[in-house]
Amino acid sequence: MDRFSRNVAPRNVNVEIVTIGDELLLGFTIDTNAAHLARELAAIGVAIVRRSTCGDGADDIAAAVREALDRTGAVITTGGLGPTSDDLTKPSIAAIFGRAMRLDEAVLENLKGRWKARGWPGDMPVANRQQAMIPEGATVLANRHGSAPGIWLEDEAGRWVVMLPGVPREMRGMCADVLLPRVRERLGASATVIASRTLRTSGVAESALPEILGPLASGFNGLSLAYLPGWEGVDLRLTCRGHLATEAAAMLETGVAAMRERLGVTVYGEGNDDLAAFVLQQLRARRMTIAVAESCTGGMLGARLTAIPGSSDVVLGGVIAYSNEVKEKHLGVHTSTIAAHGAVSEATAREMATGARTRFGADVAISITGIAGPDGGTPEKPVGTICIAVDVQGAVQSVRPAVVGDRDEIRSRSAQAALSLVRRALLLQSETT
Ligand code: AMP
Ligand code: MG
Repeated sequence: MDRFSRNVAPRNVNVEIVTIGDELLLGFTIDTNAAHLARELAAIGVAIVRRSTCGDGADDIAAAVREALDRTGAVITTGGLGPTSDDLTKPSIAAIFGRAMRLDEAVLENLKGRWKARGWPGDMPVANRQQAMIPEGATVLANRHGSAPGIWLEDEAGRWVVMLPGVPREMRGMCADVLLPRVRERLGASATVIASRTLRTSGVAESALPEILGPLASGFNGLSLAYLPGWEGVDLRLTCRGHLATEAAAMLETGVAAMRERLGVTVYGEGNDDLAAFVLQQLRARRMTIAVAESCTGGMLGARLTAIPGSSDVVLGGVIAYSNEVKEKHLGVHTSTIAAHGAVSEATAREMATGARTRFGADVAISITGIAGPDGGTPEKPVGTICIAVDVQGAVQSVRPAVVGDRDEIRSRSAQAALSLVRRALLLQSETT
């Protein structure tokens, strides 16, 4: 135990994060620091109860940090520790604690050493001296990843602010090196955790999930449930708070098993699992090969499948059949089919899939044709009309989902919907054979 340790009973600590920087408010820089800190702290049982962002102005920083301190007594800031005039974090927060700034000789020597080691010409610029100014009574937190040290400032009542650099790489390094160990010590050895597991579903609407989940729709045995829709499908995240790590793992395991039982085949994976990887695995297990025929997705499906290392034993190839001529000439779609039903039709998609399967000599082929927009929609076939077909050894299925979003989203969702259809077709085939 070092001098920071306290003999405190395990408790749940609530913390606020204040990220500092005009670039964050302007939207030029995405606030990845707050997300990283929240995830890392949750894993050791610290709940981030509020996040805020303020500009670089001294008054803005002081106001944001003071309010956060009043609520929780525990605040982490990032940004504004640099050597330039917009780096005002330290004096602004020192003022809240009524502390003066003083030059820390050890930090100054360290900065000079870094300057020399880098081989830059001349003496260290005067501006860098600002980084050696430390609030009275603060603890300097060593930064192995950059020049600005972090600061831990605490008052008699035990309220604290820890200031970390804004550069994400440095912030992440200091989070691991100094922040997490110190916070962990504050909590005591048996601190509880906030742990989550995420199930990934595809091919089912968010609004349909509560019915499928029934009694689990709003959580399970004290685990909270979040519905997280996105272009890949709807993720279901179970979160456990206030238990020891081992207990939480067991509770989540039970929760995940119960959810999986209810959800059945709509679940294709957990965490960051990719539906394309799942499909590839399913095909490989059946010793099947696949070919693709893509119109509006222009190769996205092929890219998804071939992004998976080792895909070459399953993926044979594909055709980007954007024009009607290519659909006819290279996939054998009948001119009469396009004339009767249109290029965006289930009939065309089915012929595209069968054409790709037979011409490539694959076991399975998947096709996509649709209207990605923003132009080209009609009342009968508005933007987002997608026709997908899958041919599994001659058994052809097709669907015509209506997909929402801008052009990018429609294309991404179409590729995902196509993968979802292959997955279901394979499951169906296993059931009937
Ligand atoms: P600073 O420590 O305020 O000088 O920030 C240095 C650089 O880190 C900025 O130019 C940003 O590019 C980046 N940065 C600052 N804050 C954040 C944040 N919350 N999330 C991601 N990047 C950040
Ligand atoms: Mg800044």
